[in-house]
Amino acid sequence: MKTANYLFIVVFLLTSCVSEAQKDGEKSENKTYEVQNTNQEWKKELSQMEYYVLRKAGTEPAHSSPLNDINEPGTFVCAACGNELYETKHKFDSGTGWPSFDRAIEGSLDLGEDHKLGYKRDEAMCGKCGGHLGHIFNDGPRATTGMRHCINGTALKFVPEK
Ligand code: FE
Repeated sequence: MKTANYLFIVVFLLTSCVSEAQKDGEKSENKTYEVQNTNQEWKKELSQMEYYVLRKAGTEPAHSSPLNDINEPGTFVCAACGNELYETKHKFDSGTGWPSFDRAIEGSLDLGEDHKLGYKRDEAMCGKCGGHLGHIFNDGPRATTGMRHCINGTALKFVPEK
């Protein structure tokens, strides 16, 4: 077989794997979440933007979320399933334009890896429904955890403390 043909087949196989991995709703392979919806059901329950962020791992525009400005005590829950994810006391202003936290509520997240930008990023997902929330970086506040959970406000709803 000619090298060119062989290369063509290799490239074809590689690209077909990529499109396979990006299929709708395939957030965490073979993982069973407590909240299981079909894509059709999620589309009905979520707004277009929520669906794009939570189910298609999209990113909202920086500085677009009203949750950026919330500093009052309370809990940030998953916009899709209500799972309690973050608390105001762990929120900080990262200057990025996305709600940022130095830690999540223990056991609330599912962690994954995202290679979409050509390098590895740690992906934060809701542990109950698998919805994409954002990414976790290690350039957070040094005085506390050193971690920065960079989260789409679209993926969250704020519940003020009573
Ligand atoms: Fe959820």
